[in-house]
Amino acid sequence: MKLKSVKISVIGAGFVGSTTAYALMLGGLSEEIVLVDLNKDKAIGEAMDIAHGAAFVKPVKVISGDYEDTAGSDIVIITAGAAQKPGESRVDLVNKNINIFKSLVPEVVKYSPDAILIVVSNPVDILSYVTYKISGFPKERVIGSGTVLDTSRFRALLAEYLEVDARSIHGYIMGEHGDSEIAAWSLTNIAGVNLKDYVEITQKGKGDLSFLEYIPLSVKNAAYEMINTKGFTNYAVALAIRRICEAIVGDEKAILTVSTLLEGEYGLEELYISVPSVVGKEGVIKAVEVPLSDQEMNDFLTSAQTMHDIIEESNLD
Ligand code: NAD
Repeated sequence: MKLKSVKISVIGAGFVGSTTAYALMLGGLSEEIVLVDLNKDKAIGEAMDIAHGAAFVKPVKVISGDYEDTAGSDIVIITAGAAQKPGESRVDLVNKNINIFKSLVPEVVKYSPDAILIVVSNPVDILSYVTYKISGFPKERVIGSGTVLDTSRFRALLAEYLEVDARSIHGYIMGEHGDSEIAAWSLTNIAGVNLKDYVEITQKGKGDLSFLEYIPLSVKNAAYEMINTKGFTNYAVALAIRRICEAIVGDEKAILTVSTLLEGEYGLEELYISVPSVVGKEGVIKAVEVPLSDQEMNDFLTSAQTMHDIIEESNLD
C-alpha cells in the first residue's frame, strides 16, 4: 500500500513539459501534476487537455498554476527555457537559459524545499550545475536528465540493428548530453553477453563493424535531425524523464545515466556530467565509476573538459 500521495510539478509547458506531464499521467506515477509556464494560457490549455483523459487512467489531478501551486512537490521537473533553433548547438543556449534559471529556481525552492529537482532544459549538464548552485540543495537532489535519453536512443538503434529487444541491450552513452558524448562500447552487452561475443555467436554485424561508428553518430545527431524535420523533440525525452521519476518514486535504485555532480569520481570535481548512477528515493545515491577503455576514458575526459570550459565562459556568477 502506498502511504503518501506523490506531487510532481513541471516548469515549462512547451513541447517537452506538456508531453512529460502526459507521460507521467499515463504512467500513473503521481496523484497530482502541476504545469507552470510564463505563458499562462499555454499551461492552462495543456493541463486542461491532459486532465480530460482522466477517465482512462489512474486517478490524477492535472492543473496549471503559479509557483505557489507547486508547493510541497516531491519532484519538480524543469523544462522551461529557450529551445534549440535549427543550426544552434545546445551550448549556444547557455547564457539565455542561465538568466531564466536565475529567476525560476529560487521560486521552485521557496515552495518545495524538500523536492528532488530534475533539470531537462539545455544545455542540461550546465543548467543542472547552475540549479545545484542556485538552489543550495544537496547534489543528490539536483539531477540532470543527462544522457538517459541518448542511452535510450543508443539501445533502440542497436536493438533495431541486432534484431533484439531494446530492453535486453545494456549499454551507456556517457559524458555531455550533446556533441561530445561517448558510447561506452566496451561495456555494451546483450543480456549479459559482451557485444563482441554476441556478434561472433549470431554472426550479426560480422565482417561489417560500421555500426560501431554510425550508431553513436546517429544518436548524437538525432536531436538535430528532428529539429530540422519536426522542429523539436518530445516523446522519447518525456519517457526518459518518466523513467527517472519512476526510479525515484519507487525507490528502485535503478542505474541510469543521469547528469550528476562528480566529486572525485573519474578524477573529476565540481562538474555535472552523465555517468551510470544509482537513482532512488533520495535522488542520485551514487555515481558509479565504470571501467572504460583507454580511448573511451580519453573521450569522456575531453567531454568533461568541454563542459568545464563552458561553465568558465558562462555568466553564472
Ligand atoms: P518550448 O519552447 O516548446 O517550451 C519551453 C517553454 O518554456 C515555453 O512554453 C516557454 O513559455 C517556457 N518558459 C520560458 N521561460 C520561462 C520561465 N522563465 N518560466 C516558466 N516558463 C518559461 O521548448 P521545448 O521543446 O519544450 O524544450 C524545452 C527545453 O528542453 C529546451 O531547453 C530544450 O533544448 C530541452 N530539451 C532537453 C532534452 C534533454 O534530453 N535534456 C530533450 C529535448 C529538449
